[in-house]
Amino acid sequence: MKNYLLGDMEVPVLSGINLKIEKGEFLAIMGPSGSGKSTLMNLIGCLDRPTEGRILIRGRDLRRMSDEELAQIRGLEIGFVFQTFNLVPRLTAIENVLLPTFANSRSTNPRKRAEELLQLMGLRDRIHHRPGELSGGQSQRVSIARALINNPSILLADEPTGNLDSKTGSEILQIFMDLNHEGRTVVIVTHDPEIAKYADRVVLVKDGEIRYN
Ligand code: ATP
Ligand code: MG
Repeated sequence: MKNYLLGDMEVPVLSGINLKIEKGEFLAIMGPSGSGKSTLMNLIGCLDRPTEGRILIRGRDLRRMSDEELAQIRGLEIGFVFQTFNLVPRLTAIENVLLPTFANSRSTNPRKRAEELLQLMGLRDRIHHRPGELSGGQSQRVSIARALINNPSILLADEPTGNLDSKTGSEILQIFMDLNHEGRTVVIVTHDPEIAKYADRVVLVKDGEIRYN
């Protein structure tokens, strides 16, 4: 269960959610605007905590983890692509991609990996551009590269194609499918049934609950 606190009023958003995500799964989350999809993703990504109920990662309760363990999971195990990109405007593309490595890094040469990822995203000639000089699709690809910099086993993407034209959207979808085929767990929020049909499983969030298809 998740309530948001607005002043002294509790606003219920999610209730009775019971969702198990399997390792290696490609899961799509759909549902109307305001139904709580981003709220659910923030909970899955350990960026927020439930008001009531438990979140288990590999069978372990988040509440029982130390701050260091939680930071490690957030920083190394999970890559998060935000609905609104969340790039830092005054940093260049590569500096944005490198951000998560300042706290945690598995790579011996993060800068080289950042360059490789930006190249993989088709942004070799945009490495030193700032977000204001990039298109929506390019910004989204920078944010995907950032999510991948620490080679996470779980990739969470909130509407990664929402702001893109359909051609760029299908290129991004292809990137997620490739990442999934490499063995990563991929959870993607989408409004687009064309994208959801490539998922192994689709769940619908409606009225704060999960409806299984
Ligand atoms: P969309 O498809 O438009 O992105 P969503 O399904 O992702 O919508 P959420 O962003 O999870 O929806 O929001 C669910 C509900 O919670 C909405 O009514 C929203 O107004 C409310 N809400 C979201 N974040 C907060 C917050 N930080 N504080 C208070 N209320 C919030
Ligand atoms: Mg949302």
